[in-house]
Amino acid sequence: MIKQIPKPVSGGLILSYKCSAECRHCIYACSPKWSADWILREDLEKILKQLSGKILSNTFGPHTTGLNYGLHFTGGEPFLNFELLCNAVEIAHELKIPSAFVETNCFWVVDDKTTKEKLKVLKKKGLRGIMISVNPFYLEHVPFERTERAIRISLDVFGLWGDFIGRLQGAG
Ligand code: SF4
Repeated sequence: MIKQIPKPVSGGLILSYKCSAECRHCIYACSPKWSADWILREDLEKILKQLSGKILSNTFGPHTTGLNYGLHFTGGEPFLNFELLCNAVEIAHELKIPSAFVETNCFWVVDDKTTKEKLKVLKKKGLRGIMISVNPFYLEHVPFERTERAIRISLDVFGLWGDFIGRLQGAG
């Protein structure tokens, strides 16, 4: 008997397996050694169109974010290709995909000014929040001051509903 696969109500879209880090716990074995092989713009559009209308918004509405709803952009490390990340957010916004957020290890959060600028650009394009990866494995690759800076500035840019999740497992 063939079982019907349920429609996706949330999801994570991997833009590339390339990462600035090489965490020991990474479920996808992401690393700087991967060739970038970023998702093609036409594939991005095709997949997001397929997800449009299926992804459910977070419990508190489409402008808020949560782990179990909405769509997140991830990798690898999506901020390695900021232009592509911006494109992905724009397309998702045009398609009215709710509760879109990005997952990052914060390697790029080197100073207040550029961090705030990048987050504001993404917010303007339709991003609703950010998920910040933090646990002892990341600390081997990302100085904790960058994680702290990302949390502080993200709170300022996205407000209360830009969730900050200390991840204990997985990738991103
Ligand atoms: S866990 Fe995240 S930050 Fe670490 S290597 Fe994997 S994708 Fe990169």
